[in-house]
Amino acid sequence: MSFDPAAFRAEFPIFRAPFDGPALHYLDSGASAQVPQRVIDAVARHDSTARANVKRGVHRLAEAATEAYETARHAVAHYINAPSPREVIFTSGTTGAINLVARAFGDGLAEGDEVLVSELEHHSNIVPWQLLQMRRGVRLGVIPVTPDGRLDLDGIEERIGPRTRLVAVAHCSNVTGAVTDLARIAAAARASGARVLVDGAQRAPHGPFDVAALDVDFYAFSGHKTFGPNGVGVLWGRAELLEAMPPFLGGGEMISHVGFAGSSWAPIPAKFEAGTPPIAQAVGLGVALDWLAEQDWGAILAHEMRLTGRILDGLAALPGCRLLGPSGLQQRLGVVSFALEGLHPHDVCQFVDATHGVALRGGHHCAQPLMERFGLIGTVRASLAPYNDDSDVDALLDGLGEAIGHLRG
Ligand code: PMP
Repeated sequence: MSFDPAAFRAEFPIFRAPFDGPALHYLDSGASAQVPQRVIDAVARHDSTARANVKRGVHRLAEAATEAYETARHAVAHYINAPSPREVIFTSGTTGAINLVARAFGDGLAEGDEVLVSELEHHSNIVPWQLLQMRRGVRLGVIPVTPDGRLDLDGIEERIGPRTRLVAVAHCSNVTGAVTDLARIAAAARASGARVLVDGAQRAPHGPFDVAALDVDFYAFSGHKTFGPNGVGVLWGRAELLEAMPPFLGGGEMISHVGFAGSSWAPIPAKFEAGTPPIAQAVGLGVALDWLAEQDWGAILAHEMRLTGRILDGLAALPGCRLLGPSGLQQRLGVVSFALEGLHPHDVCQFVDATHGVALRGGHHCAQPLMERFGLIGTVRASLAPYNDDSDVDALLDGLGEAIGHLRG
């Protein structure tokens, strides 16, 4: 197998869309990836040939919709190597998945139990635990970060104590790009009986992975960041945990029987899919993941890392540029954040967009505690996908150089 960035890029119609001004250099895939034609087509095909509600239908269309939806569940299970598709729950996204666990698993915790997060988490992996803290009086522990934006796992084996029930961490930081040493966390958690939830929003788009081998308990990610549609995401959980957890939302096909004397719940995964799910979106996500699973990820990651290296080198040469995150290529992905001395991230992003067509993200990236840790109000972030190429990096570095001259001048 091999990887041809131009052929991969050709799958994405956005890169042929007419724009006013400079050509598009999309370096914001960490916020939302672009969507390939095959996913757009799959969603349209589903809606034009098999649109019906799932699970409850007794007509052909309803059967076709249910089959397509369950096929998508199998595609997810295949991409993440879930032991069973029953362990795959469709949610609205990473945020929806983490909130599900915070309710259904978290409400089973007692006052004084601990949920351990890290200082670099996205708000979606902080706030649901703070809400749980308000409901249940659990303690919220925080793993600090190192100066180069990684989890500081020094002494993690002792830090995970007898009251630590859950360790909830990002697989890859959406700010620093650092990849978490999940093996170490999982081993430490196992040793003390704590569960592990992984926010995989930034890792999932970078190739298939193996939840069984990671030896974690819950894994969350979003469709729109994995080249799929908006409005759909995934929670994977160990069957025995999901089976033991009460439902989070009620209604629709999550029941086995409903009566005023009491109701009983459907088996997993239906128990956690109240109401009509995002059906066409799940179908699109299944197509996206099947396509991703076919790619040569060794070659793609080498391509992304080469571009990341060029960005890191280019940033190091810019006057007054402070990198937030690892300066090397080990244990990181192509998510690069930096601050330019004296310049507001929003001004930088607007300048490079207007002058060079470069789409970046600027701000706190929903990681305000991390910004506080580094004494910043925000950063500029470039995030890569396989469709990026050298011209995107050239436009970024040219644009930043000009931004410094123009905005600082
Ligand atoms: N966690 C991380 C690490 C993220 O990058 C994001 C998206 N920026 C989220 C959670 C939230 O994802 P969503 O908005 O799709 O729920």
